[in-house]
Amino acid sequence: MLRTNTCGELTIKDKNNKVTLCGWVQRSRDLGGMTFIDLRDRYGITQLVFNMDTNSALCEEARKLGREFVISVIGTVAERSNKNLKIPTGEIEIIADSFEILNESKLPPFTIEDDTDGGEEQRMKYRYLDLRRNVNKNNLELRHKMASATREYLNSVNFIEIETPFLIKSTPEGARDYVVPSRINPGEFYALPQSPQTFKQLLMVAGYDRYYQIVRCFRDEDLRADRQPEFTQIDCEMSFATQEGVLETFEGLVKHLFKKIKKIDIEKIPRMSYHDAMKYYGTDKPDIRFEMKFVELNDVTRGKGFKVFDEAAFVVGICAEGCGEYTRKQLDELTDFVRKPQIGASGLVYVKIGKDGSYKSSVDKFFAQEDLKKIAAKFNAKENDLILILAGQKDKTRKCLGELRLEMADRKGLKDNKKYCPLWVLDFPLFEWHEEMNRYYAKHHPFTSPKPEDISLLDHNPIVVKANAYDLVINGVEIGGGSIRIHNKQLQNKMFKVLGFTEKEAQEQFGFLMNAFEYGAPPHGGIAFGFDRWCALFGEGTSIRDYIAFPKNNAGRDVMIDSPSQISEEQLKELNLKIDLKK
Ligand code: ASP
Repeated sequence: MLRTNTCGELTIKDKNNKVTLCGWVQRSRDLGGMTFIDLRDRYGITQLVFNMDTNSALCEEARKLGREFVISVIGTVAERSNKNLKIPTGEIEIIADSFEILNESKLPPFTIEDDTDGGEEQRMKYRYLDLRRNVNKNNLELRHKMASATREYLNSVNFIEIETPFLIKSTPEGARDYVVPSRINPGEFYALPQSPQTFKQLLMVAGYDRYYQIVRCFRDEDLRADRQPEFTQIDCEMSFATQEGVLETFEGLVKHLFKKIKKIDIEKIPRMSYHDAMKYYGTDKPDIRFEMKFVELNDVTRGKGFKVFDEAAFVVGICAEGCGEYTRKQLDELTDFVRKPQIGASGLVYVKIGKDGSYKSSVDKFFAQEDLKKIAAKFNAKENDLILILAGQKDKTRKCLGELRLEMADRKGLKDNKKYCPLWVLDFPLFEWHEEMNRYYAKHHPFTSPKPEDISLLDHNPIVVKANAYDLVINGVEIGGGSIRIHNKQLQNKMFKVLGFTEKEAQEQFGFLMNAFEYGAPPHGGIAFGFDRWCALFGEGTSIRDYIAFPKNNAGRDVMIDSPSQISEEQLKELNLKIDLKK
């Protein structure tokens, strides 16, 4: 090795030792008689000293070192007079005997400090410099620990890690595929996997009864704030397990990761049906760190002459405890919030309960104190509480109120990011109806099994069929999702039929899977977790991008390597692609 030690490990115990360190010049301070340099590597920072009195030539040389130069230095560990107890190496320094410049550095475009002056764009372009900063280093270390702990747990319960191909076949279900032209099969394309779903099921048919993979998946979706075109899943599948068995097995993984990474003991993970999640929280991923459950109000709001309520299919509200003194301005802000196009409500009705127990509402004209009292009683509301009510079409109103609930939680500081409330959401519907496409879509994916007792409903009332599907939600974030699968050709065929496939289309696209079902496919089910998201959650970060070494930006571009980019005419020709390159 070019070094005897790292920059993060020497302490007072090493006093008087002769050492060689390698690293980057983080900062240098020239105090006339002395020059101090902070030498940094992945492990930490160690202070070097160069003394004008004892070795002026060396000191002169050291003064010329620029930021981010890579050097190796030989010296002796000495006790520092001015100790820095904030860092592990802060009690010592290295009295330098000699150093060598291993490589020079241009002045970096931003400071490599915790508090950098670099903007987003610059830091993405020079990602390798940004990655030198502690925040990013800590994030990638966390990611590594999460991956190791995941493997540790899954290996311990007999799962084996098997790789599945990246060049596969395009399928129409789900998101858009990224496609790759095949040079040797002119006019034909591979697709990059949106997930290894069909392969992991085929592994079950092959008898590898517990499979996992920490695997890259690719989805060509319209980019939203926290989406990456390529992302990583902890993908798992197991045979001969009931839904209960799958949930218990992966509850084990959740507990293991919480314990190992966050030092938190997780009790039994609570469960909620999809139906209740929608009814009480207006979303299939409720944040249950706080209550503020929905209360339906049609029966107490009808017939008071207030047209909005009388004409609405659905009236529903939440009670924000202790917000009874909200001002006009604050209430207006909330009204503006629900009216934003992304939320889409037309208005907001409030009922304030004063400290004296009196009621004040935006619908006082129609609702007497007695009526408001009845509404408040539905929430068990107390003095100084604030009730917020929305009305309209059921699903949409629930969705809006769900957003308002989260907004109120923000305002009340209820989203404690040190608190973790995992939740299983169960019993999802098998299908959802797509108005524009005029057809059913699989809510999870087309391989998900209906609940056995609902199979007979597939023919005439598919929308009420429930699936053996489950999601893991933590603090309002969907961390994982999976299902018990169909393992029978006839049922799989029926599923495709409901989804609008002709028999021929189903055979063309998924024949390989259905044929495999005819060769002793065992009952099986599984789950996949969004690994990047889970890392961001544990890292208390806001964006998955910060937990990926080389992420794409919001426009799906890698600005460092400048991709996507055009390819040469020659490559195009070789691939039998004719593209009009004129923009
Ligand atoms: N393949 C599914 C997904 O990517 C997860 C699963 O059902 O296991 O969402």
